[in-house]
Amino acid sequence: MQFHYHNPTHILFGQGQIANINRIITPEQKVLVLYGGGSIKRNGVYDQVVAALQGYQCLEFGGVEPNPTKETLDKAVALVKAENIDFILAVGGGSVIDGAKYIAAAACYDGDGWDIVTGQHKIFAAIPLGAILTLPATGSESNSGSVITKAETQDKLSFMSPYVQPVFAVMDPDTMKTLPEWQLKNGIVDAWVHICEQYLTWPQGTMVQDGYAESLLKNLLVLGNDFADHDTNEWRSNLMYTANQALNGLIGSGVAHDWATHAIGHELTALYGVNHARSLAIIQPSLLRNQVDFKRAKLAQMGRNVFGLEASDNLAEQTIDAIEAFYNSLGVASILTSEDRQGQAKDDAVTALMTQLEKHGLNAMGENQAITPEESRKILMAALS
Ligand code: NAP
Ligand code: FE
Repeated sequence: MQFHYHNPTHILFGQGQIANINRIITPEQKVLVLYGGGSIKRNGVYDQVVAALQGYQCLEFGGVEPNPTKETLDKAVALVKAENIDFILAVGGGSVIDGAKYIAAAACYDGDGWDIVTGQHKIFAAIPLGAILTLPATGSESNSGSVITKAETQDKLSFMSPYVQPVFAVMDPDTMKTLPEWQLKNGIVDAWVHICEQYLTWPQGTMVQDGYAESLLKNLLVLGNDFADHDTNEWRSNLMYTANQALNGLIGSGVAHDWATHAIGHELTALYGVNHARSLAIIQPSLLRNQVDFKRAKLAQMGRNVFGLEASDNLAEQTIDAIEAFYNSLGVASILTSEDRQGQAKDDAVTALMTQLEKHGLNAMGENQAITPEESRKILMAALS
């Protein structure tokens, strides 16, 4: 086992923590407050930010959409450049935080920000940013990843850089009170798949990473099964912290990663507007069944340690069934229907998705680079009705 692990994000966890952001952002810094479609103005989070930043020079930019687009974010980049912004404060879910990361890096680059997403421009500088999380799911609040969509070409791609990792992340579970139930359930699914992408790879005898990943998965299972308790501080706090730990680099240190479910899922979102968690629920069971021979030992370990299944010859297959049943129990459907595709025929949809994967060079995915176009086609054929 060999790795470097450094997570510099200062975590402010718990009720009332928004008030403490002025201990980290200094009064000399000119701040851009970035947010989405306005949920923060309806639930009191915006008012808490304004109160905490009283006396600061602040500008705001709203309207970052779910699955944030380069087209919208470039308007904020222009504002940051014109106004000499020193600090970007992202207030929202993964989309606003991912958007802030793009803006932070693109504002320090003279070319087209999309070059950052495609990797044509390597990031060497970014405006510092902080996050106030209002939707636990992505882990974006304390990691270095960002997923951006170019609406014009229906490309949804990710980039990573230590320069865009938030300086701090506020996680106040009270901000979750206004989330619709389906968003909370989607958060469980996204965090679950993040753990799987780092855990369901080769068994490597990594006891700390495996044990911690299994604990986090068990938390999500309990939180999903006890969804009736979601209106409590305890339930909210546990989901918020579990989703954060799922993708903050810790369980992914020193182990093989997969990420093929996310890569294919992004194409479903880009072409059909399927939300992120659902795109994962559609692809992952089919992908695991396709890759079961590579993942058999780890799936069996997950079956035993997370679901408490009895030993059997087909434990890996049973584990995949249990994962899919968990998504369905949360009401997250695991098939892309013809209705989702506005009636487009299955063969045409698979062809369109395969064209996107090819365009993005995704022809050897997964920890074994075994998901070739031939396998991707099989995965999609099983995931679409
Ligand atoms: P999101 O797209 O940020 O937000 C979804 C919706 O929830 C928005 O309409 C938002 O409304 C609303 N919302 C947020 N907080 C709310 C609250 N407290 N009360 C009521 N409504 C609220 O959802 P997300 O799942 O967090 O982010 C998804 C994006 O993150 C996708 O693009 C995905 O690909 C990406 N992602 C990133 C990473 C990473 O590591 N960076 C990992 C996985 C996924 P408003 O717009 O009005 O606020
Ligand atoms: Fe995700």
